[in-house]
Amino acid sequence: MFVGVLVLPLLITAGRAENGRRYNEKTTVAVNSDKNALLSGRKLPARQKAASRQADVPPTAPSKYTFRPTPALPPVQPHVVSHGNPSEKKIALTFDACSTHAPSHYDERITKILVETQTPATIFLGGKWMEDEPAQTKYLASLPFIELENHTFYHPHLTKLSDEQVRNELRRTQEAMYTLIGRQPTLYRPPYGEYNERVIKIAARLGLTTVEYSLASGDPDPHFSKDVLINYVTKMARNGSIIVMHINGRGWHTAEALPEIIARLRARGFIFVTVSDLIHSEQKLSVH
Ligand SMILES: [Zn+2]
Repeated sequence: MFVGVLVLPLLITAGRAENGRRYNEKTTVAVNSDKNALLSGRKLPARQKAASRQADVPPTAPSKYTFRPTPALPPVQPHVVSHGNPSEKKIALTFDACSTHAPSHYDERITKILVETQTPATIFLGGKWMEDEPAQTKYLASLPFIELENHTFYHPHLTKLSDEQVRNELRRTQEAMYTLIGRQPTLYRPPYGEYNERVIKIAARLGLTTVEYSLASGDPDPHFSKDVLINYVTKMARNGSIIVMHINGRGWHTAEALPEIIARLRARGFIFVTVSDLIHSEQKLSVH
């Protein structure tokens, strides 16, 4: 627990340095820089439309399954991880499987590439996504170099929900994974990169650390072609980057670009690790 306190300032500072994201503790609002806003959708109508479709699902809709309750996880220090150690050539590739209003989608080409290239990665799974894709959830769980974490149940704007609704979103996703594969996440990623101090604290009490990213690939924008994605991601990647892409079919050109992204970054000496591994090496650095 003491280690977490030491790690927090370094992680947030490093995240600011790379993409200009700022976390204002007074207003508790995550603010994107203009550059990142271009990638995150504020100036991209097509992506905004896609995002609002995802948010339409009411967070109280009944589930298809009876979930097993999860054993309680020990609480963690409330903090946000958006970057790893800037002095190590490690990069965390992350893929979001956002739940969608209609049956969720799955881009199996991405998993195939990760398997073929033996590339460790962290995949944040929506609870409803797991309901829609139980076989794929089990398959992903069988891959030892893939880490599966929590991406809320219905992909809501967490900052707009009540405390109890936030807890339900996180808990039900924990339960969905526990029911399907017998294990539960310790990390979660808030949809749309939206979080505040209240959300971070609720999650921390449930034993979940908030994970953001330092490099938005831009893959939800259909106009980000294969070549644009390859060039942008490989140009912006740094030591300790947490790169976000999508595995739910909304990363339009992700599967086409991924082999080249992996090959180019490996050729430059980067090592791919899971987010947990990235955090672990950050903690070792802070302790010594
Ligand atoms: Zn998402």
